[in-house]
Amino acid sequence: MTPLTVAIIGRPNVGKSTLFNRLAGRRLAIVHDRPGVTRDRRFADGRLGDMPLRIVDTAGLEEAPADALETRMRLQTERALAEADVALMLIDARVGVTPMDAHFAQVLRESPTPVILVANKCEGGAGEAGLYESFGLGLGDPVPLSAEHGEGLAMLYEALLPHEAALKERRAAEGLDVDAAARVGDGDALPEDLEARAAAGADDDVEEEPEDPGKPLNLAIVGRPNTGKSTLVNRLLGEDRLLTGPEAGVTRDAITVDWEHAGRRIRLVDTAGMRRKGRVTESLEKLSVADTLNAIRLAEVVVLMMDADMVMDRQDLTIARMVVEEGRALVLAVNKWDAAADRSATLQRLRDRLQTSLAQVRGIPYVTISGLTGRNLDRLMDTVLETHAIWNRRISTGRLNRWLLAATEEHPPPMGKHGRRIRLRYMTQAKARPPTFAAFCSRPEDLPDSYVRYLVNGMRDAFGFEGVPVRLYLRKSE
Ligand code: GDP
Ligand code: GDP
Repeated sequence: MTPLTVAIIGRPNVGKSTLFNRLAGRRLAIVHDRPGVTRDRRFADGRLGDMPLRIVDTAGLEEAPADALETRMRLQTERALAEADVALMLIDARVGVTPMDAHFAQVLRESPTPVILVANKCEGGAGEAGLYESFGLGLGDPVPLSAEHGEGLAMLYEALLPHEAALKERRAAEGLDVDAAARVGDGDALPEDLEARAAAGADDDVEEEPEDPGKPLNLAIVGRPNTGKSTLVNRLLGEDRLLTGPEAGVTRDAITVDWEHAGRRIRLVDTAGMRRKGRVTESLEKLSVADTLNAIRLAEVVVLMMDADMVMDRQDLTIARMVVEEGRALVLAVNKWDAAADRSATLQRLRDRLQTSLAQVRGIPYVTISGLTGRNLDRLMDTVLETHAIWNRRISTGRLNRWLLAATEEHPPPMGKHGRRIRLRYMTQAKARPPTFAAFCSRPEDLPDSYVRYLVNGMRDAFGFEGVPVRLYLRKSE
């Protein structure tokens, strides 16, 4: 498990490097690193007592030219925050609260990342005035610390404990298989006559539902601010044939743009969040979860834009999960490929994260693109069309039941509580968009999640449901 990730934030000279070194437990001469060197090294492993930590590096700021310092700090801070579970905001208690501290505090208050305020340089009871002053920053009670002398580390440890606990809880929740979890619901609006259909298994003619070619594919492009969504949209609309311009549509909060790719009509669902974008507040603009969710719900396929240099961070993952939970088809766009610092590391990280944190949807497609240069945009749109087709796919009941028979023979369901083997009798596809199945089972409540996963993954392989949410509901049948 990844340890608690901590970002150390604050203006220059408050003691960030000193604390970093103390937590990292080794002397890293980060203050003297050349710019460009520090940029690549993002994390250090460390610990506080028995608590393992991952520390996000925000060093290297001092080297920035004076006029660019503020922008640079803001960017660094924002990046570090995006990757951290908790931020340590340092002030120099001997100096007291400066306007720059107040500026940092403001950034932190606006960030969803929780913050622990740390009043540094408090050794031997010094810095009292600054300590009390810092209550006024609105970041909660300060932890008095001396990074240099190692005083106050126990209090810091205590302050970190609840965040570590919350992380563990989140991880446990992430481990939950979405598809397997869905089965405990009733599959809400599933049709009534499914069992008869499943048992009859004679509708081999409904394999692929013909799609109305004139009907547009609803596409949303979502992602954190600054990942390049607007740039991509402009590119796409510039290159492909634009059918209609922006117009108010679907709901009050969304506008749509239609264009054509490979003969297919595509409708971009653009939400308020994208239009509201203001250049001035660009880098501080926050991800609006409500806007994002809105866009996801209006879409069939969702392109999640990510920055190649910080691919699949916490917010990206949050959005990806929202897409899966809403049952939409997801395509990942790894943007700014033209400027990526380390391409193989990016892909490695992406694959790791997909495997550890989105394992319930195997095979989510990703495309490396550059909205700026136009690289791979055709591929991106081809992938959108392909994923949409998979999301719409229907498998006939006859084929499903033949598959179910083979799958349960190859790997029979376990014994139920009463020593009788659980039996899976038949199944049928209840609906598409996303592919949703009902299986009829002698003891649905006893069938382990691992077996449901076996079935879902088997269906992915057998019917090509790669990369889209697949739902399987178990129904009781004697
Ligand atoms: P950064 O710019 O925030 O990374 O700050 P540094 O870690 O480079 O520290 C700035 C200065 O403050 C250095 O001279 C440190 O030795 C000093 N410093 C750091 N922590 C403490 C502390 O707990 N007490 C005192 N008195 N000085 C400290
Ligand atoms: P949005 O907030 O997601 O809409 O992002 P923007 O489209 O406004 O882009 C944010 C910044 O990233 C701008 O400075 C863009 O020029 C830059 N950007 C966008 N796409 C790319 C790309 O493919 N490569 C590079 N190097 N920069 C990009």
